[in-house]
Amino acid sequence: MNDYLIRGIAANGTVRAFAIDTTELVAHAATIHETYPVVTAALGRTLSAGAMMGSMMKGKNDLITLTIKGDGPIGSITVTADSHGNIKGFPGNNVVDIPLKRPGKLDVGGAIGNGTLTVVMDLGLAEPYNGMVELQTGEIGDDLAYYYTVSEQTPSAVGLGVMVDTDWSVKHSGGFIIQMMPDVQEETIAALESKLAGISSVTDMMEDGMSPEDMLTAILGDLGLEITEKQEVRFYCNCDKDRVSASLATIQTSDLQEMIDDGEDIEVKCYFCNSTYNFSVDELREILSNR
Ligand SMILES: [Zn+2]
Repeated sequence: MNDYLIRGIAANGTVRAFAIDTTELVAHAATIHETYPVVTAALGRTLSAGAMMGSMMKGKNDLITLTIKGDGPIGSITVTADSHGNIKGFPGNNVVDIPLKRPGKLDVGGAIGNGTLTVVMDLGLAEPYNGMVELQTGEIGDDLAYYYTVSEQTPSAVGLGVMVDTDWSVKHSGGFIIQMMPDVQEETIAALESKLAGISSVTDMMEDGMSPEDMLTAILGDLGLEITEKQEVRFYCNCDKDRVSASLATIQTSDLQEMIDDGEDIEVKCYFCNSTYNFSVDELREILSNR
């Protein structure tokens, strides 16, 4: 098993925790989207978060989508995860070259800018759950912690990190989410805060060879951590020609007619995984005639 997440509880179930290693799936995402380092970091952090948030859902068809929209050069990040460890995502702009925040530190917050974080959970109900907060720093971990505290009334600590090597490959990617349940005791919160203030960054911990289990042990080992589940995670897109065809069917009749009049095959790309699908003029005519 390569990329995986774990979940656990501590302090008699008043704290729940998640930790993840996404090094391989983020490397894959960086390859298919041809991302510059700061985009790799921003997308990778969001993929790690999405994977952990996906695992919090219970239904087998549940889906969660995180959308970060900012006024920085990346523009947006979109990540969708299910509850089985399947994650996919894409950046608005893959080519972003901005100065480092400090030596060795990519400026994710600067590349995202000011804007919003939206979380949509499709839990199979009539209306999907929808929460939105203003970005706090654009560093993504801080923004998610804020989202949980404000929008879901669940005080949370979120650590996310991606280490991009000098050759632009992904050396480490992972993270953790620690959540306080409503019945958490004051002394547990105090102990947790002082522990979190003392730990290294996610990428430093991973550089030291720490696994997701080690990361949670470093944070919650003194609070009776019990690891309850381990799940594989992967970059997976469920697109196929039928789905892309369905999305073509939603474009305006006049635009579709224009493509047919051009008389050439068209190529449609899946945003999530960059797979391309070709449609002949005859296929376009068929989509039009099925309206
Ligand atoms: Zn796809």
